[in-house]
Amino acid sequence: MANAPRVPGRHFLQIPGPTNVPDRVLRAMDMPTIDHRGAAFASLGRRVLAGMGTIFRTASPVVIYPASGTGAWEAALVNTLSPGDRVLTVETGHFASLWKALAGKLGLKAEVLPTDWRRGAPAAPVEARLREDKAHTVRAVCIVHNETSPGCVSDVAAIRRPLDAAGHPALLLVDTISSLGSIDYRHDEWGVDVSVGGSQKGLMLPPGLSFNALSDKARAASRAARLPKAYWSWEDMLGPNASGYFPFTPATNLLFGLAEAIDMLHEEGLDAVFARHARHGEATRRAVEAWGLEVNCLEPADHSGSLTAVRVPDGYDADALRATILDRFNMSLGNGLSKLAGRVFRIGHLGDFSDLMLVGTLGGVEMGLAAAGVPHRPGGVGAAMAFLAGAPVP
Ligand SMILES: *Cc1c(COP(=O)(O)O)cnc(C)c1O
Repeated sequence: MANAPRVPGRHFLQIPGPTNVPDRVLRAMDMPTIDHRGAAFASLGRRVLAGMGTIFRTASPVVIYPASGTGAWEAALVNTLSPGDRVLTVETGHFASLWKALAGKLGLKAEVLPTDWRRGAPAAPVEARLREDKAHTVRAVCIVHNETSPGCVSDVAAIRRPLDAAGHPALLLVDTISSLGSIDYRHDEWGVDVSVGGSQKGLMLPPGLSFNALSDKARAASRAARLPKAYWSWEDMLGPNASGYFPFTPATNLLFGLAEAIDMLHEEGLDAVFARHARHGEATRRAVEAWGLEVNCLEPADHSGSLTAVRVPDGYDADALRATILDRFNMSLGNGLSKLAGRVFRIGHLGDFSDLMLVGTLGGVEMGLAAAGVPHRPGGVGAAMAFLAGAPVP
């Protein structure tokens, strides 16, 4: 890159994670690394472990791993299940299918309820499957709260209800990686047994941390579960965590950033954070509609506040459009994943994000559509601006 010309201005990182890391978080991490066995570390440890409980909205312990989200997916499974156990997954998109594949590699029997990748997980087929499972062979139900490939949210409380109604003892495991800190999420109230989170999306941190929020039932299951676990073992973590320490070297500087990010979310107020994301989702969909393009998610109730996946007209390549936008306007947009490759581009509007950043983002998309020759009507940015101006932050 030494001979590449300088690109002025800030890169627009509008993929649905990793997200823009705010300066406050960058500065909080820009510190000498401290002794992870010393007293100063223990107070940081206690602060972030308790703080993550307030973000997941749980009174139960949260485990923090120095790993990307995939590590916390694995941790959720190996701590609670035994070889050959059956898990029920709903294939809402690319991430649900990756989690299912990971379960298969661990020696679990993963069952899939398919969807068209254009809506959240429907509760009715989950309920039907659990009602017919009289022998309780399904040991866990795995749901992705915000599917980051099609841009659809699942109603987690509605998936919990059939488990309770059918009196089924399966654990409920939920991936909140792209919803935590951007879309309303309630671990305790919704009766989730293991919630899986990651640092690089709504939490506004660089990649490298991931989380398991637990329930009492999940902890009890972990004592009987027979899948091999060593590095991921909750019980090995929870002992030292009680006094703020970790059983191995933690990602100290990311934890400095996490403490800052948790403070920032509470300074804004979690409900205000969720309202901001929902409002930016609405503004983005108004832009898409004005362009005459189609939002991939078909169910209004399932629209995502953290990203919008936009379909390009047949015969046009979403990746060519993204390349034009990156080259001309220094903005990264998310690509279509697996089944949706080339068919959609994804606008991330989560994390540390404002009205003006959204208007800039949508401006880049609208100019890119013109530059790449993708048929559309102008006026999307104007529609989003009219909405944002007329609907002030609550
Ligand atoms: C980003 C994402 C993941 C992947 O996590 P990694 O940090 O890349 O391991 C998993 N699930 C969802 C819903 C995601 O958005």
